[in-house]
Amino acid sequence: MFYNTENWIEKNKYENDDFDLFNGYSTYETLRTYNKNIFALRFHYERLKKSAMFLGLDIPKYEELKNILNEGIEKLNCQNDVRIKLMLNKYTSSKKSFYAFIEPIIEIDDLRESGVVLTISRERKPKNPVIPYYVKTSLNGYSMYLRQKYNAYYDAVVLNEFGYVTEGTKSNIFIVTAGVITTPPVSAGILPGVTRKIVLDLVESFNMDFEERNIEVWELLSADEIFLTHTSVGIVPVRRIVPNFTFNAPGITTETLINYWQDFIINNNAYWD
Ligand code: PLP
Repeated sequence: MFYNTENWIEKNKYENDDFDLFNGYSTYETLRTYNKNIFALRFHYERLKKSAMFLGLDIPKYEELKNILNEGIEKLNCQNDVRIKLMLNKYTSSKKSFYAFIEPIIEIDDLRESGVVLTISRERKPKNPVIPYYVKTSLNGYSMYLRQKYNAYYDAVVLNEFGYVTEGTKSNIFIVTAGVITTPPVSAGILPGVTRKIVLDLVESFNMDFEERNIEVWELLSADEIFLTHTSVGIVPVRRIVPNFTFNAPGITTETLINYWQDFIINNNAYWD
């Protein structure tokens, strides 16, 4: 299902034209539903607003966006939960142009049960990027390039100019060592992920040991557990970093977070307004 401002049209898959749109002067968000409700829309909206402001784009009002997306979800009338790819380009008072692509989510329980395989990108994040990493845009071409280059793996860990761990190309990263959960700070050059933020809320609510600080590669490779976070799947345990660094997947801390994730988000009104 694809929304192009004027109307909703049925579409089964991405086509080249659609892909091109997502690579233009634009900002985008990937959202999902749980039990048919859009998860943390307000958080995604706030990030969209920051990205749009940096790029000099206008955005629709929150309620307007919410209504349009809900209308699309209803029209798709899908049994599963859905993933929404939202792309905003020149949205002005005369040309209200934004796009949304809605598709069913196929939940892959295997990911949560047996974990995924990562690689470490040979390329580092560009230093002094023209567009800061908090802006979610395909104009940060390095990220799209690395995603394609390392697509044999679930994701590729990207290091910054100092050799610190930053994030994947589509996910944030956490390590667990001796029971302490650690994730890189925003200043390492990451996208402040919505899932990352909500996992931190969950960690805090459990009073778990937690640090937000720079992570060296040796700490990553010798961690007890590693997990990724991103909207479409939530919390994803890592079982291996190639060639042969292996981790408990899911380890006890990651498993605890996964087990409480749905209850935590569903019972917290802040994520559903
Ligand atoms: N980091 C990058 C570079 C991303 O592209 C994404 C999501 O697309 C994330 C992290 C995870 O962010 P979120 O949890 O908001 O989906």
